[in-house]
Amino acid sequence: MSLLADIERNHEELIAIRRDIHAYPELAFEEQRTSALVAKRLAELGLEVHTGLGKTGVVGVLRSGASKRSIGLRADMDALPMPENNRFAHCSKNPGKMHGCGHDGHTTMLLGAVKYLAEHKNFDGVVNFIFQPAEEGGNAGARAMMADGLFERFPCDAVYGMHNMPGMAAGVLGFRSGPAMASSSRFDIVVKGVGGHAAQPHKSVDPILIATEIVQALQSLITRNKDPIDTAVLSVTQIHAGDAYNVIPAQAVIRGTVRTYSIEVLDLIENNMRRIATKLSEAYGATGELDFVRCYPPLINWPKETGFAADVAENAFGAAQVDRAIPPFTASEDFSFFLEKVPGTYFFIGNGDGDHRLDAFHGMGPCQLHNSNYDFNDALLPIGATYWCKLVEAALSKAAQP
Ligand SMILES: [Zn+2]
Ligand SMILES: [Zn+2]
Repeated sequence: MSLLADIERNHEELIAIRRDIHAYPELAFEEQRTSALVAKRLAELGLEVHTGLGKTGVVGVLRSGASKRSIGLRADMDALPMPENNRFAHCSKNPGKMHGCGHDGHTTMLLGAVKYLAEHKNFDGVVNFIFQPAEEGGNAGARAMMADGLFERFPCDAVYGMHNMPGMAAGVLGFRSGPAMASSSRFDIVVKGVGGHAAQPHKSVDPILIATEIVQALQSLITRNKDPIDTAVLSVTQIHAGDAYNVIPAQAVIRGTVRTYSIEVLDLIENNMRRIATKLSEAYGATGELDFVRCYPPLINWPKETGFAADVAENAFGAAQVDRAIPPFTASEDFSFFLEKVPGTYFFIGNGDGDHRLDAFHGMGPCQLHNSNYDFNDALLPIGATYWCKLVEAALSKAAQP
């Protein structure tokens, strides 16, 4: 029997697990029920279970043979703070919370792989199953698990993560070497002038005029300072100043976000933003200060591991089911913290064109991530689980062991 056929025998069980997790979504660092469910399942299947990494994270360790080679497979567990619009039986029972990004499916696919690998142990080495909390909303559960010694306690030669993608054909696996997802940063610029009567501007230093100059100058970083080949976004999304028609305020605040696909471009933009904020304010006799917070780094896939993972997909499912060069994705993802420390790759599995959601979207296309009508496609469960098993059996192949 093929590996896929073997896992497909458990399809109903996997669907039940996925829908149970979907019905009880939990937010970042609050994944108590979900992580307990995961830990129980791992223990039942005979794995060594470690809980409490990054508050609610769980690691299951499965060993076979004598090899010290190791691999890390990661699934995220958290849901979003948004109401669910679906009315099917497994819709959210927790008001204001929803598995709108499919992390219920990611967790279940990895659990499906655990079962097969624990029962067959057709590999030689160590598999670390990483169930991560708090991917959403800049909460950086990945970083929290690392701060609790994830890779020191559970060394991984390489680490892999998989996310579903609506609009990509169901079960197609998409890879991209190099920069694949954007960094996410936010900034505050505070301009301090001298407030006064609006009819006596010569006796004040107007921070509003300076703030508008700064907003204009910031866009020059995108068009005049960075290499036009590099992609970056700088959006000012807030300006706050003043309360009255006839008062020049003492202060103006500018806020916004920056997205880049490399640390070098991010450094360039941050440094130049600081120069503009401080020097332009100074030029007008005010003071300007930049507070720049880097939330998630750019996600940069390692070429060797990306090629290897795509080869495994092609061997498992055929070339027609694999896209080796999907376009970069503008969202951010905290798996990037893992990839700063450990080789690996982050890839996508098509969630389909929406056919599995008959009552969704009314023919306007597939229901997208973070949409209140979204649902993970249960048809992917055995495919994703099979892929994880194939990846382990290839990375920790018995034959390749010296
Ligand atoms: Zn998401
Ligand atoms: Zn997600």
